[in-house]
Amino acid sequence: MTVTHAPAADLLRRQDPELAEILLGEPARQSTTLQLNAAENFTSPAVLAALGSPLANKYAEGYPGARHHGGCEIVDVAERLAVTRARTLFGAGHANVQAHSGSSAVLAAYAALLRPGDTVLALGLAHGGHLTHGSPANFSGRWFDFAGYGVDPDTGLIDLDQVRALARARRPKAIVCGSISYPRHLDYAAFREIADETGAYLIADAAHPAGLVAGGAAPSPVPYAHVVCATTHKVLRGPRGGMILCGEELAERVDRAVFPFTQGGAQMNSVAAKAVAFGEAATPAFTTYAHQVVANARVLAAGLEAEGLTVTTGGTDTHLVAADPAPLGVDGRTARGRLGAAGMVLDCCALPHGTARGLRLGTAAVTTQGMGEQEMARIAGLLAGVLRGTADPARTREEVRELTAAFPPYPG
Ligand SMILES: *Cc1c(COP(=O)(O)O)cnc(C)c1O
Repeated sequence: MTVTHAPAADLLRRQDPELAEILLGEPARQSTTLQLNAAENFTSPAVLAALGSPLANKYAEGYPGARHHGGCEIVDVAERLAVTRARTLFGAGHANVQAHSGSSAVLAAYAALLRPGDTVLALGLAHGGHLTHGSPANFSGRWFDFAGYGVDPDTGLIDLDQVRALARARRPKAIVCGSISYPRHLDYAAFREIADETGAYLIADAAHPAGLVAGGAAPSPVPYAHVVCATTHKVLRGPRGGMILCGEELAERVDRAVFPFTQGGAQMNSVAAKAVAFGEAATPAFTTYAHQVVANARVLAAGLEAEGLTVTTGGTDTHLVAADPAPLGVDGRTARGRLGAAGMVLDCCALPHGTARGLRLGTAAVTTQGMGEQEMARIAGLLAGVLRGTADPARTREEVRELTAAFPPYPG
């Protein structure tokens, strides 16, 4: 429990004990179990303070200086600050910081560049594409004609020859690069070359690596993609939300695609919290953090491989590790349940050429807590012990408790 939160918790305890229980229970869960979900992080008390501020009360449809509501003079300054910080952080000509989420950002990017029925190329869902990359259950699959490229069955690496061949054959209006589970850097220059050759827009969905890009620990898609979509809450460690980066020539199309096409009023508390996060991400401390995230993931990947799991692509360049626990005699779904019971929280993910699901882990949250390579090696051992059934679950749960107690996410 942070100092920042204590007054809010006290207030709720008095006014709404039922909800207070929940509000106190969740941070307790987060600080006593290992958060290995690759999409999560511990945002700072300053970001949480901005999120919980009365900016939440303000209606602000439109953009700074051109709002549909009165009284926007202060939130206008907040949004301009967020935009300027985002542009500087990522070296982008234009930034839209209003997208409510990563999916909203992708929806707006499609709205800016495409018409319903257009052909789009993206990493197939079974190979690590996101729902917004053509799932039939999502608007993307319903409104666009998606073709999926994949990864090489032997190396697990994206097959750029296949991307090129598909692009030549299908002549897509846009090519999407980005994934929920691909652990390697993307070759944005190669994607752009294919897009240029076939007359397509390149959309980078950098929801996962955006924070690594900000910290200089991963290559940037900004110089290559026509539009870059991102979340602000994954490695970037800001509030739950989305953002879009593009050149000035697409600025108006992107802005109009967010508001009024796909959204109403922006959440100004969230926009302010994004400004806080961008400010934090511009510090040397964040650069150190981003590199440590990758160093930790490398050790975690090596540890899991040494324990007998099959690590996709044989390792990682990022915060993300995808692994098949099948050699230890369990599928991903069973593994997630057993690990959850032992206090290790992570996700399942599709494995490109497997029938059962695998495991997806990430080091963004544990690195924010201050854990390093030594702790990653220990986590790999604990995890394998649980999956093999050689470790006593109660004993492992206790070790996880000790480990997390030594690295409180919100000290004090
Ligand atoms: C997380 C993610 C999104 C969606 O973000 P939400 O905020 O959950 O809507 C989109 N694309 C990719 C590649 C992601 O990893």
